[in-house]
This record gives sequence, C-alpha cells and structure tokens, in this order.
Amino acid sequence: MFPPRSAYLHIPFCHRRCFYCDFPVVPLGDRAAGEAGAPGAASIAAYLELLEREIATAPPGPPLSTVYLGGGTPSLLTPAQVGGLLVALRSRYGLAPAAEVSLELDPASFDQARLAGYLAAGVSRVSLGGQSFDDAVLAALGRRHTAAELEQAAAWLAQAQARGELASWSLDLIQAVPGQALPSWRQQLRQAVACGPPHLSVYDLTIEPGTVFGRRAERGQLELPDADLAADLMELTAAELGAAGYGHYEISSYALPGHASRHNRVYWSGAGWWGFGMGATAAPWGERQARPRTRQAYAAWLAADPPAPSAGAGMPLDERLLVGLRRREGVRLPAWLDGTALAQLRQELAPWLEQGLLLEEGGRWRLSDPAGLALSNGVLRQLLAWWELQPAPAPPSSGAGLPPPGCGPAAAAD
Ligand code: SF4
Repeated sequence: MFPPRSAYLHIPFCHRRCFYCDFPVVPLGDRAAGEAGAPGAASIAAYLELLEREIATAPPGPPLSTVYLGGGTPSLLTPAQVGGLLVALRSRYGLAPAAEVSLELDPASFDQARLAGYLAAGVSRVSLGGQSFDDAVLAALGRRHTAAELEQAAAWLAQAQARGELASWSLDLIQAVPGQALPSWRQQLRQAVACGPPHLSVYDLTIEPGTVFGRRAERGQLELPDADLAADLMELTAAELGAAGYGHYEISSYALPGHASRHNRVYWSGAGWWGFGMGATAAPWGERQARPRTRQAYAAWLAADPPAPSAGAGMPLDERLLVGLRRREGVRLPAWLDGTALAQLRQELAPWLEQGLLLEEGGRWRLSDPAGLALSNGVLRQLLAWWELQPAPAPPSSGAGLPPPGCGPAAAAD
C-alpha cells in the first residue's frame, strides 16, 4: 500500500450541539469565535496547539494531494488559524501543486471578509453545512442558522467561484427528517440547485443514541418517514439532481462534471489517509484508527506519545466491500470469494440480485442507480451480517483490488 497523500483535521468546536449530532464536538456558545478575547478563544487556541503538535510529530510522508478541515464548525477559526494549520501540514508533508484543500463552513458563522481570508490562506474548496432551506426544519433540527443566512452564504460562495477565487464548493442537505413529504423535499432540492453548488451531499437523517433525537425516539416522540418513503425521497433526490446535470458518484454525493470531491474519493477507494485531532479517524495504511473523543483524553493520548501506525495491515475486506458498494462504480469481488463463499454470498443476497438492485458485472458488484443505492442500507446490513458469520480467520485483506475509506461522515463529517 502507498503512503497516504490525504489528511483530515478535526476542528471540534461548535456554537451549540444540533439535535441529531453525535460527532465529537465541543459546544462553546452562540458568541464563540477564534479571535483573541472572544468567548471560547482560549479553548480554541489551546486545542490548535495540540493539533499542531500532533502534526509535527506524525510519521513522514509524501506531499498531500487533499486536505479536509472538518468538524465541528471550522469556520469558528480565524483565517490566520486555518492558515497556521496549513503551514503545519506543509512543514510536515508539503502540499502537492493544485492540492484540494477543503474547509467546512456553517452559514451564519462567516462573512465575505472571512471567506476571503480563508481563500487567501490556501483553502480551495468549501463544504457548506446548509441542511435545509426551510426555517421550520432548521429549527426542528436544532440548527443555529436560518434559510436566509444559508442563501446568503451560498451566494457568497457562488460569487467567489465565479471570480475564480474558489475552485469548487459543496452544499450539504439532510433528507428523511421528521414530517418530510415528497413535494416539500422536491422544493428543497430545487432551491438547492438554484444556488448553483457544483457539488451536493445529501444525507439521510440517522438517529443516534444519546442525542436529543435519540431520546425523543426512545420516548416515541419522533415521527420519521418510514422505509418506503425514505427510499422514495432518495430516488427523488437522484432524479431531480440527475435532471439538473449532477452525476451520482456515491450514495450521498452528487457532482457536476469535474467537481467530485477528490478527498472523499480517497475514503471510498481504499487508499489511506492521515487523521489528526480529537475524535478524528485515521487510516494511513487502510486500517482505521480512532483518536479519543474528548479534549482531555486526546491531550492525554498525545502526551503518552502514541506509537506510530504500522504499515501493511491494509483495509479489512469487509470494510472494503462496504465502502466500495457506496460508490456508483461499485467494487471488484475479491478473488478468494470464488467458489463456496461466493455461492453462499450470492444466495444470501439473492433477493437483491433478482430484483436488479444489486448488479454483478465483469467481476464487480454495484448497486443500481437510483433504486439499489436508495435501498443500500439493507444490502450493506445483510452483507455485514453474512460477514460476521464467516469462520475466523478472515480471508486475507490484501490483493483484492479494492480502494480506501475516509472520515467523511464517519471520521468527522458535519
Ligand atoms: S451537526 Fe455540525 S454544526 Fe451541528 S453540532 Fe454537529 S458538528 Fe456542530
């Protein structure tokens, strides 16, 4: 396996915790900012010291082709602080020419001057955490911004792209929220397209234990779309965005030609990536390694001088299959599956194969688009259940011809 050429940095600070969020975040209050003297500034500065120390003492590697600063709300950092992190990465690894440097921004947490500062610091791609154009939905999700603030933020990004200052940007939306129906979702999608993002990430709302939504669900107080409606919503998303010219290159990801996220492709391809910061997931050699999810535990972990990750393990094959099936092009079947194991797996997944939701073509498996991708959770769950029943030791993880994963939502996506 080649050394990583990608890095994920986790910025855990947010103003407040959204009702569905179980990411490793540190809420600092509505007035928090990275500027000296602002509420939360000392916490941010202390964390950045730790993060820069982790980068400086990381194993060496080749220049980075992609960098992703996710969170959390990285737009709580000043442009100078973002620039400082990029300097730390340049010092340790260097940045390849035309590297993709992505920064997550939340509406209402930046203005045009701040955006210009980020771009001057070296950011080339922005991921905007919009989630919805409906104020009632935003309030129900516990988001801090309004639809008008989202539209304003999107307009600034579109203008920066038109001026050639920003290479690309993405808009995040959440679908399958409580009370959602097809007509209102269609309207949301059309509003999103009208903002002109070259890339859209559309995630299904997931209910995690310990969140506000998790507690409401336990009490039976959360009315979510049923599985059929959730699949219909996903199919509608694929149809609307497809008609608007977006390619569906991964379950949740749509892009105009030339705007697929290079960093996210690393996650789903099987290539490795460095991960830095509290709660970040790293997989420099394919096998995922999660850092502690609190600042105190992360500081203690760093102070204990953690061992360098060892090369050679590679991504486990079950994970390769799972992340590979998220992509439109699917995944190559590993050679060891020839014979009995492949026959068993085909039998296990027969209903999906017979309905044309899962396709086997030229030694590859892929989910059909949009119907298979819309029902992907069922296929992936069944695949995982089958895998867990396989006798140990698991088949070898190398040589299967599959690509590597990323933090994306798992490592820190917002
Ligand atoms: S969803 Fe995003 S903005 Fe909301 S608390 Fe989580 S990381 Fe912060």
